[in-house]
Amino acid sequence: VPAGEAVAAAEGPPPREEAVRPSALVIVGPSGVGKGTLINRLMEADRRFGFSCSHTTRPPREGELNGVHYHFTTHEAMEADIVAGKFLEHAHVHKNIYGTSIQAVHDVATAGRCCVLDIDVQGARQVRKAGLKAIFVFIAPPSLAELEQRLRGRATDSEEQITTRLRNAQEELESAKEPGLYDYIIINSDLDEAYHQLASVARSALAGEVGGPEGSAGTGTAPAAAAAGAAA
Ligand code: 5GP
Repeated sequence: VPAGEAVAAAEGPPPREEAVRPSALVIVGPSGVGKGTLINRLMEADRRFGFSCSHTTRPPREGELNGVHYHFTTHEAMEADIVAGKFLEHAHVHKNIYGTSIQAVHDVATAGRCCVLDIDVQGARQVRKAGLKAIFVFIAPPSLAELEQRLRGRATDSEEQITTRLRNAQEELESAKEPGLYDYIIINSDLDEAYHQLASVARSALAGEVGGPEGSAGTGTAPAAAAAGAAA
């Protein structure tokens, strides 16, 4: 080491402890499974998490705010931004486009927070490929019948939308079996129990860990095959 450099290093500011960079937390699961409720609870409980605000072309539901729940946009604007490379991932879900902008993830990360992404399975595959440092969690319903009941119960969707969402749910449940996609699978039979499991996984993300224990389905969670079987 040249002497000059050594002196410069010695005279420089004292080395700072490198802060742990949290992993992102990617949460996937069919509509109506309770993802939103679980995520909201996590965000309210711990300020160290920050929500990645997605873009969507679907119209806002009652109570949804632009820039909080989603950035509501048009097909034209979204397609132009996708071509311009502004999205980490995007997907066509229920006839609309949804996507995570690079900016959305960047904003949360620069605030020093653990970025929480609520995305569909197509998006999760893209984020895996992109190599984002993240833990991937699938939230499964106890059964498809139970999911249908929940979708009808929330009364925000038309009959046609419910049918589409249920068809997509079947495909999403199949993805729970995909090797190497999810690190943890949580079955939301009991909300408190599911939250407890999610909070435990979220702590690993804060600690900057990636991936689940051996075999891909983690502690306190059900194996992928069981989750997919629950839909049968
Ligand atoms: P909803 O219309 O009920 O808010 O969301 C429908 C589906 O789109 C959900 O499964 C949700 O996770 C997914 N979604 C929301 N934002 C994004 C996103 O940015 N990218 C992708 N790929 N899916 C998203």
